[in-house]
Amino acid sequence: MQHPTGPGSRPTVPPVIGIGWCAWHQAYSATARLVQDAEGAAYFACNSCREAYNLVPVADRP
Ligand SMILES: [Zn+2]
Repeated sequence: MQHPTGPGSRPTVPPVIGIGWCAWHQAYSATARLVQDAEGAAYFACNSCREAYNLVPVADRP
């Protein structure tokens, strides 16, 4: 299988993992992870906000 656009063509939005909008301090963060609040709604929270609010990333739950 060949890419139809050929080599050197890249998507305009790179698939960066870990950059997300922290809903707690209202800014982008490189350490943002998906967490759920007490009502079950999913938001991204950065590392420092997860520590401050005792949030557990969804991916780290059993
Ligand atoms: Zn934050």
